[in-house]
Amino acid sequence: MNCDEVYELLPVYVGGGLGSGERGQIAAHLAVCGECRREAALLIRLRLAQRELAPILPENVKKSAFRLIEAQKRSESLAALETLNQAIGVTRSALKLTYELVKI
Ligand SMILES: [Zn+2]
Repeated sequence: MNCDEVYELLPVYVGGGLGSGERGQIAAHLAVCGECRREAALLIRLRLAQRELAPILPENVKKSAFRLIEAQKRSESLAALETLNQAIGVTRSALKLTYELVKI
C-alpha cells in the first residue's frame, strides 16, 4: 500500500472499521512511514477530543470545523487538523476556566 491508499483508509482504520487484511497492510505501512504515522496520530487525537467534547461543543462549531477540513486538499488537510487540534485545546482551556469561575 502506498501513502495515498493509506491516507484514504486512515479514518476508517482509526475507527476500527477495516478487515484484518487491510488493517495489517496499513499497520505495516505505518511502521515504515513517519508521515502517515503522524497523520494517524492526529486522527486518533482528534477522535478522542471529539468524543470528549461532543456533548459540550456547540453544534455549529463542530460543523464548521469539519466542513473546513473536508474543504481542504490533501496537502492542506494535515495543517487543518493541527489547527482544529489547537482550537480544541483552546476551547478545552476556556471551558475549564468557565467551570472554575461558575464554581466560585
Ligand atoms: Zn505513508
